[in-house]
Amino acid sequence: MKASFDLIATAAAGLEAVVGREIRNLNIDCQVENGKVRFQGDQAAIVRSNLWLRAADRVKIVVGEFSAVTFEELFQGVFTLDWENYLPFGSQFPITKARCVRSQLHNEPSVQAVTKKAVVKKLQQHYHRPEGVPLPENGAEFRIEVVILKNKVSILIDTTGDSLFKRGYRVDKGGASLKENMAAAIIELSNWYPDKPFIDPTCGSATFCIEAAMIGLKIAPGLKRSFAFEEWPWFDRELTAALRHEAEAQIDRTVELDISGFDIDQRMIEIARKNVAAAGLEDVIKLKQMRLQDLKTDKINGVIISNPPYGERLLDDKAVNILYNEMGQTFAPLKTWSKFILTSDEQFEEKYGGQADKKRKLYNGTLKVDLYQFFGERVKRARI
Ligand code: SAH
Repeated sequence: MKASFDLIATAAAGLEAVVGREIRNLNIDCQVENGKVRFQGDQAAIVRSNLWLRAADRVKIVVGEFSAVTFEELFQGVFTLDWENYLPFGSQFPITKARCVRSQLHNEPSVQAVTKKAVVKKLQQHYHRPEGVPLPENGAEFRIEVVILKNKVSILIDTTGDSLFKRGYRVDKGGASLKENMAAAIIELSNWYPDKPFIDPTCGSATFCIEAAMIGLKIAPGLKRSFAFEEWPWFDRELTAALRHEAEAQIDRTVELDISGFDIDQRMIEIARKNVAAAGLEDVIKLKQMRLQDLKTDKINGVIISNPPYGERLLDDKAVNILYNEMGQTFAPLKTWSKFILTSDEQFEEKYGGQADKKRKLYNGTLKVDLYQFFGERVKRARI
């Protein structure tokens, strides 16, 4: 089996650099590209990246990359790859995804079928099975993906399984919850540090609060779930167990956090409580039913992160206009606080009554949204 793998971590548009930073924090060198970050590593890198990346979608092995403009070239390219190093006899290996973008080969079902045939032929030869007799596929599953971008083929194996945003703590979602990896990325893009107060005044299912608490206490986001690679017969189980233990040992419950979530809807607060409990963070996160218009605090230098209702999703336009306006008035006295507001409303600043210091384009699923960033005034310390 292989000692070193070419890997990519996939990321939503706009979040690649955040994922790149997370990979460097694992002491792994990487290159940021559109929609993904490339890196190399051994089995430990596969375990660590899946366990620790908060903003990524998935980690995939790059089995090979080559050019192809005909099905014959695709077949030969796939056939030549070292499948025997990945797929033990009896493996299931569905081609779960074929995507063709600006390429001569564009019939995705055919690309899928040709890829499958080429892998089958390679394994039949390698395992000395007669051609024409189907290979048994009742073992561990290796999900293969083919992406053809401008005639360049990438053949990938997914190591993750369910997307990384599924942390395993979400019991219930409510209407319009944000993906966990998106919430984590926004916190990482903000100027919040664990010593600052944190408020999400429209917390819904508490995604931001839980992700902030996990960052603050150094809880690896993947600790409560399993991954596709854990089913692979050649994968070092002891190594995985050791790295899971290492991650557990890094949790620091002594960090004092000040994290609060509010929502106007008592039912959402109940859902938030269930999620917070499932994440084991009841002692850390304060939740309360409250209108954001009633938010007041004497604390300083805090960070507000909010994903309020957008017209498209939850409220009609007039109600949204009023809410954003009241939000501006409520936040205005909190001069030392930084505010990060995620909405798809392009007139947000007008309605809120203030121009953002910075705007960042992101995607909430397929919906284009902006993160409006207002930085708090720095509090000058009194001179002694
Ligand atoms: N980020 C959240 C989803 C937020 S959806 C998550 O991941 O689950 C927007 C939330 O704003 C809803 O839960 C809604 O109940 C709440 N909301 C709407 N108007 C509000 C107001 N005036 N004050 C506080 N919360 C409000």
